[in-house]
Amino acid sequence: VLNEFASGVGRLAAGLANVYFVGERGGPWAVVDTSTKGEFEAIRAAAEKRYGADARPEAILLTHGHPDHSGSALALAVYWNVPVYIHKRELPYVTGRAEYPPPDPTVGGFLGMAVRFVNTEQPDLTGYVNPLPDDGTVPGLPGWTWVHSPGHAPGNVTFWREEGRIALVGDALATVDLDDFNQLIVQAPRLSRPPAPTTVDWLAARKSILRIAALEPLALGAGHGVPIVGNLLGTDLTMFGEDFIIPLKGRYVSDPVRFNENGIEYLPPIVPDPLPKRAAGIGLAALGVGLGVYLWRKKRAVQGKHDGAST
Ligand SMILES: [Zn+2]
Ligand SMILES: [Zn+2]
Repeated sequence: VLNEFASGVGRLAAGLANVYFVGERGGPWAVVDTSTKGEFEAIRAAAEKRYGADARPEAILLTHGHPDHSGSALALAVYWNVPVYIHKRELPYVTGRAEYPPPDPTVGGFLGMAVRFVNTEQPDLTGYVNPLPDDGTVPGLPGWTWVHSPGHAPGNVTFWREEGRIALVGDALATVDLDDFNQLIVQAPRLSRPPAPTTVDWLAARKSILRIAALEPLALGAGHGVPIVGNLLGTDLTMFGEDFIIPLKGRYVSDPVRFNENGIEYLPPIVPDPLPKRAAGIGLAALGVGLGVYLWRKKRAVQGKHDGAST
């Protein structure tokens, strides 16, 4: 289901991450992020519904190259025969030239546990992918600019439109508390830190949040969570950035990864993982059972409501 949360911007919750459709029907449009591998059909169908059967975007834009944002980019780029754009600092990881720093399971939280099992296979977009122009313009989307917002990833960018003050921030922050399993189910919109296990420079991440806050957005769509809209968003974001809580422990917390244009320049040493894989697996299985029970109850509650309404 596509939801238009700001003028000209629709959001599709595709699996693990959000996909944004930017632009009106009949005009130039682009896709921002492509979720994981396997979401091709969902994204293609949503695009067709929004823009028409033969409509083709000007470009596919990636906020960064992590596989939950770039996973379906190649299939879509081939299908539409359109270019993909990403910040130049992300290029090595989406062209098979370098690997991202390994996710840190020791940072804690729900994702810290789940990341032990996540497929981190990187797509190779060679032949389709290009760097975003240095002048800050966004190919195919007049009126939009990009703002470098690193910390989570070296080349995470925020796509920004002054008109309507709309920010698509990628994983500079999230709008759902990814560290709390219950919040992941409820999806209550809330300014939250970026996905922790793959955030490799926390001070830079904090600076990026303050940089986005200074834009004073009225609508904010992140890679994960329901978008947040409102007049107080800029103020809330500034407060969130100033009070931003950096994790207490974790491989990259006090010793950030350093990058150059070819990939990783310095990788902090591994810290011992206190939770072995098997124990984490048992924990995840228990959460899975919990989720099943929750969804079953929710379904029953919804059915109950419908029954009540019809009488
Ligand atoms: Zn990411
Ligand atoms: Zn992500």
